[in-house]
Amino acid sequence: MRSIQAFQAAAPGSGLELVTVERRELRPDDVAVRVTHCGVCHTDLHAVSSQDPNAFPVVPGHEFVGEVAAVGASVTEFAVGDPVAVGNIVDSCGVCAMCVAGQENFCAEFPTLTYGGRDRVDGSRTLGGYSGEYVVRDRFVYHRPAGLDPAAVAPLMCAGITVWEPLRRWQVGPGSRVGVVGLGGLGHLAVKLAHALGAQVTVFTTSPGKADDARALGADHVVVSTDPSAMAAVANSLDLVVDTVSAAHDLTPYLGVVALDGTLCSVGHLGPIDIETMALLIGRKSLASGGSGGRPHTQELLDFCGEHGITADVEVVPSREVGTALERLGRNDVRYRFVLDLADLG
Ligand code: NAP
Ligand code: ZN
Repeated sequence: MRSIQAFQAAAPGSGLELVTVERRELRPDDVAVRVTHCGVCHTDLHAVSSQDPNAFPVVPGHEFVGEVAAVGASVTEFAVGDPVAVGNIVDSCGVCAMCVAGQENFCAEFPTLTYGGRDRVDGSRTLGGYSGEYVVRDRFVYHRPAGLDPAAVAPLMCAGITVWEPLRRWQVGPGSRVGVVGLGGLGHLAVKLAHALGAQVTVFTTSPGKADDARALGADHVVVSTDPSAMAAVANSLDLVVDTVSAAHDLTPYLGVVALDGTLCSVGHLGPIDIETMALLIGRKSLASGGSGGRPHTQELLDFCGEHGITADVEVVPSREVGTALERLGRNDVRYRFVLDLADLG
C-alpha cells in the first residue's frame, strides 16, 4: 500500500484532521496522481457536515489537478510527469447503456464517486483529493489544457462540468437566453461558459454586492432575487435557467422566469421538493436536474476552456487552512472558489 497524507473527518462533527491513509498499489490500468491543487466544493461541506455516521470517515475533494507520479503496466495514455486533472467520478461499469452513451455519470450500477464511493474491485471506501496523492483508473484521468493556471483548472472538474452538461444538453449558443441562480463556485463558471457560448446571461443572486462581479464574469443582466419587482420584470423570459443554490429553497420563482417551452435545471442542493404543477403547466415548462458529466463532455469542456482561456476565479489557500476555507464557504464568503494548495504536504 502507498501511505499518503490526507485531510480526513473521522465522524460527524469531528472536523478535518491531517492523517495518514493508505492508497492501493497500482493495478495495470491505474494512474497515481500527485495532487497539487484541489477545489473546495460545497458538496465537500455537505459531506463533512453530515450527521450520518455511515458517511465517515471521509476525505473530501473531487476536483483536483496534479502530475502523474506513476502508471500501471498497461497504461498507454499517460506518462510520469504528465499534467492531469481528475473530477468527481473515478470509475463506472463501462458497459451499460449510460456508459456506452458516454454518460458514465449516470452509470446503471452508479458511478464510483471520487470520495465516499466504493471501489469496484476491492470494495474499499474511496478517499478524495484533499490528499497528497490519488490512485485512479486511467479512463477517469484527463490531460490538462496547456497554458492555464493549474489551481484555476481544478474547479472545472466538478463545478465546471456540472454546469457544462446542461448548457450543452439544451444547446446553448448565440441568442440563447440563460439564467444562472446563485453566484458561487458552480454559478460563476456557468456565467463564464454561457457567455463564451454566446448566450445572453442573467444572474439571479441574493447578494447585491456581487452584481459588479457578475457583469465582469460575463452577465448581461443581474437580478437580486429577493426583490419581487425585479423578478417580475424578467418573468417568462429565459430559455434555460441553471439553479446552483446550495440550500433548500422554493423553485417556483425560478420557474416563473422560464420562457415558453424553456427549462429550469436544478443542479444545486438536491433533496425532496414541492412543486406546484401549475408553474410547469403555464408555458409548458420543464424541470430537470443533472450531476457531473460523462467522459466525452468532460474532455470537451477542458478543450473548450483551453481554447477560450476559461478557468475559475480562485482563492488558493495553504492546505492546513482547509477548516477556515470550509467555514467561509458556509457563510457565502468566497469569490468564487477556494482551492487548496496540496503541494505543501511535501
Ligand atoms: P457555493 O460556492 O457555496 O455557491 C452557492 C451559491 O448559492 C452561493 O454563492 C449563493 O449565491 C447561493 N446561496 C447560498 N445559500 C443560499 C440560500 N440560503 N438561499 C439562496 N441562495 C443561496 O456552492 P457550489 O460549490 O457552487 O455548490 C452549489 C450546490 O451545488 C451545492 O449544493 C453542491 O453540493 C451542489 N453540487 C451539485 C453537483 C451535481 O453534480 N449536481 C456538483 C457540484 C455541486 P448568491 O450569493 O449569488 O445568492
Ligand atoms: Zn463538487
